[in-house]
Amino acid sequence: MSSFDAARLYFEHAAEHMGLSQNMRTLLLTPERTLKVQVAIERDNGEIGTFIGYRVQHNSARGPMKGGLRFHHEVDADEVLTLASLMTWKTALVNIPYGGAKGGVTVNVHNLSHGELERLTRKFVDEIHDFIGPDKDIPAPDMGTDAQVMAWIMNQYSKFHGFNPACVTGKPLELHGADGRKEATGRGVGICTLEVLRRKKMDVKETTFAIQGFGNVGSHAARFLHDHGAKIVGVTDASGGVWNSDGLDIPVLQEYVEQEGGVAAFEGTHPVDNDELLTSEVDVLIPAAIGGVLNVENAPHVQAKVIIEAANNPTVPEADESFAKRDILVLPDILANAGGVTVSYFEWVQNRQHFRWDLERVRKELDRIMVESLNKVWDIAEEKGVSLRTASYIIGLGRVGRATVLGGM
Ligand code: NAD
Repeated sequence: MSSFDAARLYFEHAAEHMGLSQNMRTLLLTPERTLKVQVAIERDNGEIGTFIGYRVQHNSARGPMKGGLRFHHEVDADEVLTLASLMTWKTALVNIPYGGAKGGVTVNVHNLSHGELERLTRKFVDEIHDFIGPDKDIPAPDMGTDAQVMAWIMNQYSKFHGFNPACVTGKPLELHGADGRKEATGRGVGICTLEVLRRKKMDVKETTFAIQGFGNVGSHAARFLHDHGAKIVGVTDASGGVWNSDGLDIPVLQEYVEQEGGVAAFEGTHPVDNDELLTSEVDVLIPAAIGGVLNVENAPHVQAKVIIEAANNPTVPEADESFAKRDILVLPDILANAGGVTVSYFEWVQNRQHFRWDLERVRKELDRIMVESLNKVWDIAEEKGVSLRTASYIIGLGRVGRATVLGGM
């Protein structure tokens, strides 16, 4: 099953509950525009490097489209379409005035020099600049891209369209970025997790966690939870994995990763691989890396009571069914990781107003939106007797559907 077919199953489940017509389902599922471009650059050794880039603009019924840009060797058209559609439901769920989009370039960034990465980014912007912009489609960081890449996007875009920092979010603080954007997705994951634990009457200080992925999202979620007394016993990333049953020292691990580039061989730990981590005896499991990691093979062996989907699309539908049957609570990606796009929205608002918010204001507004969204999802799930995922899709689809009908054909 392709990743879009899998995401489509979640969509159909909610659409069925809502009694959406077949025509409306087709309208909501079909992307408005799909771009596939060649990104050719000169490599440092003088050879030509050719890469394929994508931007899928899924739905603009509620506003300009918004979504990350991923540089990863597994990026393909199906994955970008899936992630673009998730952005449509996510922005609607947290009720910010955007539609959904996503982009990516199929490339292993570890094989590029700094200069090659810059040329690749600028060339990609050359290919798509007419289709993006503050009122059309606003990229942001995702796997393999960061504030530096966003700065190059802003600079390259300005060569065609003039100064306009709101054309991209997740920029460096020194270049029209927003306080709190870098931590935002991880913080949102943390806020949602505390709220779920509170509702399940679990004390965070007595709760054990395993986290897959220690990049932007995983490390900030880990730090937030650690600062609230959580015991994070296992972490894996692309370099390997580390385990300490007494709890990992997350601030020190963050410094270690900063220097070493990965968690592997962090002192005072023993190694753990992804399979062991995902099925380990912990209370809460947080996948915060790549998609499809909770699958038919490992789902029956997952022991966590709660799964917080910090990554996009980490659970395949068969695994989701298996978790539902075993009463394992899954907080879906479109809610759990919506903190990033929410603070991207704050960055865009600040850029447009030429007015800077302080960190306290960003955090306060983010926390409010995350808690309000979670409360709404929880209420709908209880009222309709559906999973948190289906409830999230019901809210998202409902808002996009109503905007589509109100806007007219
Ligand atoms: P990142 O590139 O900063 O970090 C990715 C992490 O995953 C790294 O630690 C990497 O080593 C690890 N990883 C990669 N392959 C792995 C593997 N096979 N096994 C274990 N670990 C592996 O990316 P990020 O921004 O932290 O994004 C992580 C996830 O969160 C992605 O699914 C992304 O779409 C999603 N997300 C990110 C944001 C954001 O604001 N950055 C917002 C919403 C959702």
